[in-house]
Amino acid sequence: MKYESIIGLEIHLQLKTKTKMFCGCSTHDTAVAPNTNVCPICLGHPGTLPVINEQAVKFGVLVGLALNSDIAEYSKFDRKNYFYPDLPKAYQISQFDLPVAAGGYVDIEVPDGERTNVRIGMERAHLEEDAAKSHHGEDGKTYVDFNRGGTPLVEIVTQPDFRSPREAKVFLQELRQIARYLGVSNADMEKGHMRCDANISLRPIDENGEVIGALLNPKTEIKNLNSFKFVERGLEHEIERQTKLWDAGNPPMESTTRGWNDVKGITEDQRSKEDAADYRFFPDPDIPPLKLAAMAEEMRHHLPELPAARRLRFANEYKLKPADARQICEDPALADFVEHTFSELGAWMNAMPEFDAMDEEALQVENKKMSKAVAGWILSKLLGLLSERGGNVRTMKITPENMAEFITLIVTRKLNNVAGLKVLNAMLDDGSDPTHIMEDKQLGQVSDEGALAEIIDRVIESNPAEVARYQAGEDQLIKFLIGMVMKASEGTADPALAKNILLVKLKAE
Ligand code: ZN
Ligand code: MN
Repeated sequence: MKYESIIGLEIHLQLKTKTKMFCGCSTHDTAVAPNTNVCPICLGHPGTLPVINEQAVKFGVLVGLALNSDIAEYSKFDRKNYFYPDLPKAYQISQFDLPVAAGGYVDIEVPDGERTNVRIGMERAHLEEDAAKSHHGEDGKTYVDFNRGGTPLVEIVTQPDFRSPREAKVFLQELRQIARYLGVSNADMEKGHMRCDANISLRPIDENGEVIGALLNPKTEIKNLNSFKFVERGLEHEIERQTKLWDAGNPPMESTTRGWNDVKGITEDQRSKEDAADYRFFPDPDIPPLKLAAMAEEMRHHLPELPAARRLRFANEYKLKPADARQICEDPALADFVEHTFSELGAWMNAMPEFDAMDEEALQVENKKMSKAVAGWILSKLLGLLSERGGNVRTMKITPENMAEFITLIVTRKLNNVAGLKVLNAMLDDGSDPTHIMEDKQLGQVSDEGALAEIIDRVIESNPAEVARYQAGEDQLIKFLIGMVMKASEGTADPALAKNILLVKLKAE
């Protein structure tokens, strides 16, 4: 029997506000001693009153807009009652029936998936406060750190629109990018800024992909999926487990909760999930309702270009390969740097008379050359050097102006690849401009035919055996001779020009 997997996700995003959801405590929960960023409000002392953090609401609205959701005109907070040591009030302030955002969708691209372009529907996005953090000590006791308690979260619930673990993973990566572009969260799964639970059930299908039997079956919720890898692995494992149950004629008959155990690589049974009724939701009488129409209108103007749109624009405008555009846009700071570099290059091209004379077609060729140089030098060389040095685009000393100048030296062949790498390294050292470095270290490419011819004469003279073999028909030896020229010129020779001169000279001998 063949089965189709039906997957939905619930994601908690920790919002990057300075203070907590309902009090003035700092949200920094790791850099300080346990239980220091706390106050009577987030510790749930009786008689205290919560005050809504406006920034958190704005972030929630921004997330809703980015997910193409409808922003509620009228929203409110509710108490979700449950009893656990990490929840001092014995209820969490959350949103029940009037979330900040409802509906919406996110389009994802799954290059190697069965479905390549998938629209994932959103159910809702609501605001709530985080619980405290439990530490299970080696002494067998459990300790609670309330620093995290009360940190604002937005919980995003998707429709069960995923059909594979891979789609779920790609969506989470897209969501992380969206959160970073919006500046609402670092969305780092390893650090717990983004936490994911996944719901999954199977249904039998026939050869034509038609569903046999019920459209939806009891689902299993998998908790503790705190990395992209775990989400994919946990779901894959659960598909395997449920497939065996279905094949044995014993499919899951009720909804259950399981936890992902990465050490064992399996999901394990946990407490059965409470129904909404068990939480006894009711409106929080201490918090006034929210009217969001005006804020939604204001935030719409603050909505930045989102990653999908930016990727598409980079590919079209800068003639970048889609895969390169994707990699560049993954980090908004890198995308900004590349964008500024291109705009500097555009200014340079406008100022150079040789481009004026070109027709549209020739200009396209030049643009392509430029794009290839930018993508190649930034993605493979610059990022490589940065990671070797433990640096990053945000803090490096190279400005887009200097990067653009560097690219012009490469495309005008004043600098070859070997010397280029040396110049780039020096630029990273102290932020000086590439022309200066090139002249200072005499790394400029020797394109002067006279100077190059002299070097080549010396190479021919000192390698008589190889020259003779080349002239006797061993064509591949030209590479060796070019290599010797590069070496003799300390990497500064223009290799194409060197080859031409060599060919002429070797023929004449
Ligand atoms: Zn507090
Ligand atoms: Mn929640």
